[in-house]
Amino acid sequence: MVQRQLSGRGIRDVKVLAAMQELPRHVFVPEALRPFAYDDRPLPIGAGQTISQPYMVALMTELLELRPTDKVLEIGTGSGYQTALLAHLSAAVYSVEILPQLSAAAKKTLAGLGYQNINLKIGDGFYGWPERAPFDAILLTAAAPKIPEALWRQLREEGRLVMPLGKEQRTQKLIRARKTSGEPVIEDLSAVLFVPMRGEVQK
Ligand code: SAH
Repeated sequence: MVQRQLSGRGIRDVKVLAAMQELPRHVFVPEALRPFAYDDRPLPIGAGQTISQPYMVALMTELLELRPTDKVLEIGTGSGYQTALLAHLSAAVYSVEILPQLSAAAKKTLAGLGYQNINLKIGDGFYGWPERAPFDAILLTAAAPKIPEALWRQLREEGRLVMPLGKEQRTQKLIRARKTSGEPVIEDLSAVLFVPMRGEVQK
């Protein structure tokens, strides 16, 4: 998976590649789908949600430019796979999931792997995690029509926010926004396809 799907397609960050080599993906996937865990595609994890394709997980992580001292906020814990990867590459991860059953399953999986620097919360990620702000990096793993304001406020100066942006699925794109004198400097990356964010963002 790492050689063919990641380095073969341009993921260069050696720390990201090493962490993905180390992290077992199959434990985050429902038992019946484990034979496909390392395939080049997203997989269903229940409740109509998916674990992202390995390449997308690697790309988004690389774009966050994490340092070992960073504090990271993730919106959309899902299976917890991306959460675990972030935990390998930063000091602390705060991850918010709106669906209680997914958060509970992720908690169990992550506890089994022994992580000490992951904090999970059930709630609407549209509001972020203000008590733990500011964050050095913020990752959304569900699409929103614009950068949620509360999340932008919780990003520190020079911090990076990576998200699938778009009102409709067919026009979604991956963006990275860097906070520069309080303002977003936005880079448009590739076209992507993510589940839409639920909750307040839809109103
Ligand atoms: N990173 C996950 C991807 C999960 S898909 C993984 O690799 O497994 C996106 C997740 O975002 C889903 O679990 C979905 O329930 C969650 N989500 C959607 N809207 C949300 C919101 N407003 N707040 C928090 N989580 C949300």
